[in-house]
Amino acid sequence: MDANRRARALAARLPLGTLSRRLGGTVVAPDDDAYADARRVWNGLVNEYPTAIAYCESVTDVRESVSFAREHEIPTAVRSGGHSVSGASVVSGGLVVDCSRMEWVRVDPDDRVARVGPGATWATFDRATQSFGLATPGGVVSDTGVAGLTLGGGTGYLTPKHGFTADNLRAVDVVTGRGERVTATADRNPALFWAARGGGTPGVVTAFEFDLHPLDHDVCFFESWLPAESAADALRTYRRYQRDAPEESCVSPYFARVPESEDVDFSADRRGDLALVLSGVYTGDPERVREEFEPFLDREDAFAASVETMAYVDLQSAMDHDFPAGRRYYWKSVPLADFDDEAIGALRASAAEAPSALSTVVVWPMHGAIERVPESATPLAGRDADVVVNVEAAWDDPAATPENVEWVRETCRRFRDLTPSHGTLPNFAGGREATAADVYGRDAERLRTVRERYDPDGVFAYERA
Ligand SMILES: Cc1cc2nc3c(=O)[nH]c(=O)nc-3n(C[C@H](O)[C@H](O)[C@H](O)COP(=O)(O)OP(=O)(O)OC[C@H]3O[C@@H](n4cnc5c(N)ncnc54)[C@H](O)[C@@H]3O)c2cc1C
Repeated sequence: MDANRRARALAARLPLGTLSRRLGGTVVAPDDDAYADARRVWNGLVNEYPTAIAYCESVTDVRESVSFAREHEIPTAVRSGGHSVSGASVVSGGLVVDCSRMEWVRVDPDDRVARVGPGATWATFDRATQSFGLATPGGVVSDTGVAGLTLGGGTGYLTPKHGFTADNLRAVDVVTGRGERVTATADRNPALFWAARGGGTPGVVTAFEFDLHPLDHDVCFFESWLPAESAADALRTYRRYQRDAPEESCVSPYFARVPESEDVDFSADRRGDLALVLSGVYTGDPERVREEFEPFLDREDAFAASVETMAYVDLQSAMDHDFPAGRRYYWKSVPLADFDDEAIGALRASAAEAPSALSTVVVWPMHGAIERVPESATPLAGRDADVVVNVEAAWDDPAATPENVEWVRETCRRFRDLTPSHGTLPNFAGGREATAADVYGRDAERLRTVRERYDPDGVFAYERA
């Protein structure tokens, strides 16, 4: 039976009307008009047919949904921003507990803390916190969910200065798989708190609390497009720069094809060429940006370059248009202990082999605050890496899926062969096939223990095995 028919058959056997009456929110089932949109997530590669989607509007709604799932033994996925690249927030034949309507952010500027509903996106978060001149490291695309990004670690432009997003977490409120409502902090339910800082949670987070940091001035962004032939030299310059890079700087070079579109300001003879893009953000004094990025600016080999000063909220949404919903995506990453010449050569070779012109290979810096947090404080790997390489395939043609997925996997195998490392960034871990051991290495077993304790019936067992 295909997944769609199976979802309908399962829905017909469940008392979804009862769940619907218990919720302040709504339940969408396969026969409803809203179902076609409700089952979709940001990644067009994900094509799941849940039995029902419960749109929760309160903690009570969440508890009712979890009780219903436990009572009827339905596999359950939690969805907030819906941007899980692997599609982990939607499950065929199961219940989706959707938190997107629980979108609120409350800022206490005196205590420098933000309390956040699970449905908040980074756009909502950054607007609320910036109105007080405060911020915490968040994702670089504004419609991504605060919830999933934090539970998977979270990297952003402020990471060198303030760590992973999860490093800035003070507390989470969770409805566990048992249906209990608990608060987890470093002192209360510490094992659950440890897991939530990058390892997901065996339940539904209904509120997050984050530390906030002052950021009350404009920030700077630069980009320089170089021909691929310049890549080795430019990346060696980057490597030297990274050794003493200030924590206000986040430089992330990436390989991309020059866009074909005439809307973009590149000379026609470059379109479609492979390029290395030196791209960086400076959140220190804007007056110092030219001095700070001197090794990257005014390179004679750059065929397009810009330096801009802008509000932090504008920076945070500047890349939104590059990641449209509905396109097909497959992303994976590898922490590199040594960003040596061999790695630089492999980067360029892999980027040149990408089957889709929309794909990129990104180098993400791993310096600063993340190195100061002990490995044992969170389940996140890679704190001691030089850089992380994110291999990000994007394509439109469904027939091109196998070659794009294989390109990402092969590229990551190539990097794994170069460097001794364990685990990867959970937010860039590939598809559903990635196991907890692949992502968390030696912490996978500790995470399993936390899951067994807070979700003994396996309501959320659908999450990474
Ligand atoms: C365009 C784009 C840009 C990105 N940029 C960055 C970036 O800059 N930095 C970075 O670190 N990552 C980035 N990511 C990866 C992103 O952090 C993850 O995909 C993240 O999981 C998305 O969170 P979400 O809430 O939108 O997703 P969802 O799909 O809603 O959820 C993702 C995961 O979290 C779980 N989850 C969601 N809500 C809850 C909850 N309330 N309680 C318990 N579990 C929950 C889900 O079950 C699922 O496993 C990006 C992704 C995209 C698509």
